[in-house]
Amino acid sequence: MPTDTIRYHTLTSEAALSQLASDRQQGLSREEALTRLAQYGKNALPEKKRKTALTIFLLQFKDFMIGVLLFAAVVSGFLGEWVDTVIIIVIIILNALIGFVQEYRAGEAMEALKKMSEVQSLVLRSGQAFHVPATELVPGDVVLLEAGDAVPADLRLLEAHQLRANESALTGESVPVDKQTNALDNPDLLPADRSNLAFRGSTITYGRGRGLVIATGMRTELGQIASLLQEDEGDTPLKQRMQAFGKRLSYLILLICLILFVSGLMRGEGAWEMLLLSISLAVAAIPEALPALITIALARGARRMVRKNALIRQLPAVETLGSVTYICSDKTGTLTMNQMRVSQALPTIVQDDARPEWLLSLLLNHDAHRSEAGEWTGDPTETAIVKAAAAVPGVDPQAISARYPRCCELPFDADRKCMTTAHAYGEGYLLITKGAAESLAGRLADRAEGDRLLAQADTWAGEGLRVLAYGYRFCDRLPEPFSSEEVEKELQLAGMVGLIDPPREEVAAAIEECKKAGIRPVMITGDHPATALAIARQIGIATSEAELLSGRALDALEEGAFLQQVEKIKVYARVTPAQKLRIVNAIQSKGHFVAMTGDGVNDAPSLKAANIGIAMGITGTDVSKEAAHMILLDDNFATIIKAVREGRRIYDNIRKFVKYIMTCNSAEIWTILLAPLLGLPIPLLPIHILWINLVTDGLPGLALSGEKAETDIMRRPPRPAKETLFAQGMGYHIAWVGLFMAGITLGIQSWSIHAANAHWQTMVFTVLALAQLAHVLAIRGERSFLFRQGIFSNLPLLGSVLLAAALQLAIIYLPGLNTIFRTQPLSLTELLVCIGAAAVLFHAVEFEKWLRLRKEARRPAYHG
Ligand code: ADP
Ligand code: MG
Repeated sequence: MPTDTIRYHTLTSEAALSQLASDRQQGLSREEALTRLAQYGKNALPEKKRKTALTIFLLQFKDFMIGVLLFAAVVSGFLGEWVDTVIIIVIIILNALIGFVQEYRAGEAMEALKKMSEVQSLVLRSGQAFHVPATELVPGDVVLLEAGDAVPADLRLLEAHQLRANESALTGESVPVDKQTNALDNPDLLPADRSNLAFRGSTITYGRGRGLVIATGMRTELGQIASLLQEDEGDTPLKQRMQAFGKRLSYLILLICLILFVSGLMRGEGAWEMLLLSISLAVAAIPEALPALITIALARGARRMVRKNALIRQLPAVETLGSVTYICSDKTGTLTMNQMRVSQALPTIVQDDARPEWLLSLLLNHDAHRSEAGEWTGDPTETAIVKAAAAVPGVDPQAISARYPRCCELPFDADRKCMTTAHAYGEGYLLITKGAAESLAGRLADRAEGDRLLAQADTWAGEGLRVLAYGYRFCDRLPEPFSSEEVEKELQLAGMVGLIDPPREEVAAAIEECKKAGIRPVMITGDHPATALAIARQIGIATSEAELLSGRALDALEEGAFLQQVEKIKVYARVTPAQKLRIVNAIQSKGHFVAMTGDGVNDAPSLKAANIGIAMGITGTDVSKEAAHMILLDDNFATIIKAVREGRRIYDNIRKFVKYIMTCNSAEIWTILLAPLLGLPIPLLPIHILWINLVTDGLPGLALSGEKAETDIMRRPPRPAKETLFAQGMGYHIAWVGLFMAGITLGIQSWSIHAANAHWQTMVFTVLALAQLAHVLAIRGERSFLFRQGIFSNLPLLGSVLLAAALQLAIIYLPGLNTIFRTQPLSLTELLVCIGAAAVLFHAVEFEKWLRLRKEARRPAYHG
């Protein structure tokens, strides 16, 4: 059994296996794995502690303005104004409760998203390979590693083929280190020099291997340097901007309140009344909750997106998705189904005793596995080929791989675009190379044969087929060193296959929608130019060869010349991961906001460079997932478009509730501030202000974030990335509607005071409350009128408006509440006057919308 003192790097792999009572081919049994999980605990590092529910609740009171309000409550208690004290406290608690519920739920949503993006490992249990959450690994488990994997625990390597790992998270050294399996003599080697171990926190950058778990969780090397893990999430840019803006705004409001206070004193109002009024106004008008509300809206959006298979890894992506102007997508698996089928083969795939190498090539050169049930799993290209070869009558793939065991290999990489396996064959060896036709043609012994291969490949590729060619050679001894230069040369052509990979059904429509939305779709693929163009034509990405650029042509282009034509190119073929980075940078330098997909190890730099990096959930490597902002759980291009749509909707709705809350606040300030200038008494009591802030503004404001997408949401151009939240006339709206609302309110105040109406203050209070409810209904749609949009299309909002209205009536008409809120029952006429005033406001705001839409319609329509 393991103890922490065993130095596994000094043991042979056999000794390490027996130390942990495990087996190279079988791994642990499932039962044993469970037992050990109970014994060693989860393979997890301690996370930053999540805030408890109580802390979240208490933090709601941390706010400065709440402190001021509490102070006011205490002072009014001392002055004997018990009713005020109680009401203020109740309001503070309600406020905190609403904030708490929202924040708690948003936290839960983010936690769930995090869980979903946890690493999975391929582990052998009872001889079968399974994907298991890395947290469930135990010492003794045997895991399979390939390029792009995150190393899930500390491992003693049992097998290493060209295996290289990046250990920068542990050592700071960013150059990948070579890994091997032999025992090392020196027990005191630094971890960085223990070349037969792979450490948690590092990633596999190249090759393939197999490792024995020797330490999990806190017992790993990474676990010992726990300080590394203090990863802070940071605020989203939108929240930061809102916070900065909110701060400036609060100084302004505090200044206004000070003026209000001083001028009130000079007019001879009571000092205490004026203080309480100023404080209440400050509390109501400072939008202290907005930054938190924005985060909550984003988190809720992320939760909705994951239901549509877009898993958000970084919250800001939710808001920035709406600004995407370019989507660069992989072809295979994202635009196509990744359900390959061999449709052409030369020579035909049969048992042919004259050319045994052909069938052997197909059956030996691949990394697909066959499960007990007889299903093939692995890379879809490879499984399709193996399936086709295994279907030949009389062929037994298992027997063949047992008879010609693999002894060496050069794994596939996206730069070389080929891979080689070496197999024991009689006294000598059989080397098999498969890969892209261009890649193979240059490695053949016979150049004329290479030309014929290329010609055939072009024909098939023109039909949209994915073409793979196979070469082989026999040798007595394995080449030394076993490198691409020494091995992949002087080959005989064995044959070639063409595979169909049809476009996904929903993709053509998604491309169409994407273009209407002013976003340009671009295909970037490692595949053959003709294959790429054929598929691009089928799905509507490109129409002519002029829109295609191959990796080789790209390399030949000067940067300046490339920049000149970059906006015309729709398909990039035969590109390497490094070229992908160049492409993103070029597109960005034209001022575009780029979303880019990637799945391979080497895609991480371009995913990071893109404004939104998108990894593949099914076929993507861990490295690409960790670099990405978002993961497509179904690898589907159409999902990106759904996410963009959702991102636009969420941003719209954030704008809507900011607009609503700020307009309400501006109305309150105008009303209180202008009344004395018009020679009117102070229009509202502090309780009224606090009530409007909490009930009338708060409830419907929250519900605005659930507003459905505007009908034209995917027919308008992307929002400029640098545009502020207040763009498109929102600041103007906040000012004028606020002023208009105040005007109506003060008009009614003045009228009823002149009519010697004793209820004037209740009327003022009611008008302001109802006008705000009318306002929320009018701004639900930014581009559609309420009655066209349908009153019932956002039920929570309708509900909260009705609830707020009902509560308002309750405090007017219920005698008990009258004393608390200092209100009087209104006569029917008075009530109708208030409702009528609110209706006027509603129509004024709808009229503003009509004017804006008419202006927009006159501008030439946008066509991307
Ligand atoms: P894509 O961008 O379509 O995902 P890849 O980078 O996966 O393309 O593949 C590029 C080319 O490399 C393919 O067209 C094919 O010729 C070759 N290739 C892909 N997979 C393999 C493999 N498993 N073995 C050998 N060659 C491969
Ligand atoms: Mg690929």
